[in-house]
Amino acid sequence: MKISVIGTGYVGLVSGVCYADAGNEVVCVDKVQEKIEMLNSGVVPIYEPGLKELIDKNMELGRLKFTTGIEQSVKDSDIIIIAVGTPSLPDGRANLDFVKNVANEIGVSINGYKIIVTKSTVPVGTNEIVESIISAQTDVVFDVASVPEFLREGSAIQDTLNSNRVVIGTNSKYAADVLSELHKPFTRNILVTDIRSSEMIKYASNAFLATKISFINEIANICEKVGADVTQVALGMGYDHRIGNSFLNPGIGYGGSCFPKDTQALIQIAGQMNYDFKLLKSVVEVNNDQRFNVLTKLKLILNDLENKTVGIWGLAFKPNTDDVRDTPAYEIIKSILDCGGKVKAYDPLAIENFKKTFRLSHNIIYCDTAKDVALDSDALCILTEWEEFSLINPTTIQKWLKRPNLIDGRNIYNEVQLYGTDLTYYSVGRPSLN
Ligand code: NAD
Repeated sequence: MKISVIGTGYVGLVSGVCYADAGNEVVCVDKVQEKIEMLNSGVVPIYEPGLKELIDKNMELGRLKFTTGIEQSVKDSDIIIIAVGTPSLPDGRANLDFVKNVANEIGVSINGYKIIVTKSTVPVGTNEIVESIISAQTDVVFDVASVPEFLREGSAIQDTLNSNRVVIGTNSKYAADVLSELHKPFTRNILVTDIRSSEMIKYASNAFLATKISFINEIANICEKVGADVTQVALGMGYDHRIGNSFLNPGIGYGGSCFPKDTQALIQIAGQMNYDFKLLKSVVEVNNDQRFNVLTKLKLILNDLENKTVGIWGLAFKPNTDDVRDTPAYEIIKSILDCGGKVKAYDPLAIENFKKTFRLSHNIIYCDTAKDVALDSDALCILTEWEEFSLINPTTIQKWLKRPNLIDGRNIYNEVQLYGTDLTYYSVGRPSLN
C-alpha cells in the first residue's frame, strides 16, 4: 500500500517506519524542514530503541522516504495518516489546530479516492470535523477512519510491531477491510468499530492507566503511614487476575506527553456534556501532589534546602526515552531551586532536551555522569528508573555523597541492597531506613 504519514514526531516516525517494514511504500511528511533534512541524512531526531536500525534498513530498501512536500505525498498515496500533535490548551482541552491545518492541506491536494486516518489522540467528534474540512474543498470521494495510537515511548517499535490491539473506527466497510489488512502483520486483535467509540477508546484507556497509577501512589502514601510495604501489597494485589500486576509501581507520578494532557482533555470532553468526571479529577490531583513528596522527604532529611546541593538522577519522564515533555523532574527541580537549593543533574539521554525545554536558574549544573552528580551532594534523588542507575551499588553511592541521603523516587533498590550502608534511605510506600 502507498501511505503518507503527516507529522513525523514520536508517533508518525515510529508508525511510518513500521508500516514500511511490513512492506508498504511510506512517505513521512513534516513541516519542519530541519527534521526532514536530518532524517534524509541518516540522523534520527528522537531516541527510541531499534528505531535508527529500522529507518536505515527501510530507507535502503527504498520503502521509506521523508519530505516536507505534503501536496505531492497526498496525491501519491492511497492512505493518508494524520499523526500531528494535539497539545493541551490552557483550559485542558485538546488543541486541534494542527489536525485541522492538515485536513485543510489534504482537502486542497486530494486528487482521487483516499482513506484519511487520524492517529493523533483527538476528542470525540474530531474525525467528523476532519471529514467536513476536506469535503468543503473537494468533490472527490474519500473515507475517514480513527485509528488511535497506543505505543509507549521507550518501547515504541516493539509495541507497534507486536501490538496488543489495533482499533479501527470507520463507517466504511471498504476502509475497514483495507486498514485491517494493513495492520494484520502487527496483531491478531483488530477491533473494527464506529468512529466515536474508537476516539473514546483512546482516552478511556489512558485515563484508566492514569487511575491505576494514582491509585497505587495513594496506597503507597498510606503504606508509609501505617508501616506496610507497598511492593508486597502490589504483589499480593496483582496475583488477582481481575487486578493484574502491571501499572502497580508507585513513584513520583505519571508525566510525559500523553497521560497529563489526555486526562485533562477527557475531563473537558465530559464537562462540555455537563458531566462532572469526579474520579478523573481526583486522579489528576493525586498525581500533581505525588511529585512533591520528594520535596517533603528532602526537607525532612535536610531541614532547610538553602545552599544545600541536591543530586538528581533522571530527567526524562521515563527510561529509554529522551522525551522530557511534562516530566515530573521539572517541577521537583524547580521547587528545590525555589527553596534556595542547588541542583546537579544527570540523565543518560535527556539532558539536551531538558536544557532546551526548561530554562532554569544558574543554580543547576548538568553533569556528564551519575557519579559526578553524587559527588559532594547533600542528598541524591532518583527520578527516572534508568537501568544504569539500578546497576550502581548503594555502597558506592554512599562513598560518593557528601552526606549519606538517598531518596529513591522509583523504588529501584530493595532493602537487601541497602544492607551494610549507613544511607538514610527514603523510597515510595516502603519503610524508610536509618
Ligand atoms: P510530536 O510533537 O512528537 O510530533 C508531531 C509532529 O507533527 C511534529 O514533528 C510537527 O512538526 C508535525 N506537524 C505539525 N503540524 C504539521 C503539518 N501541518 N504538516 C506536517 N507536519 C506537521 O507528537 P507525538 O508525540 O508524535 O504525538 C502525536 C499524536 O499522537 C498526539 O495526538 C499524541 O497525543 C498522540 N500519541 C502520542 C503518543 C506518544 O507516546 N508520544 C502515544 C500515543 C498517541
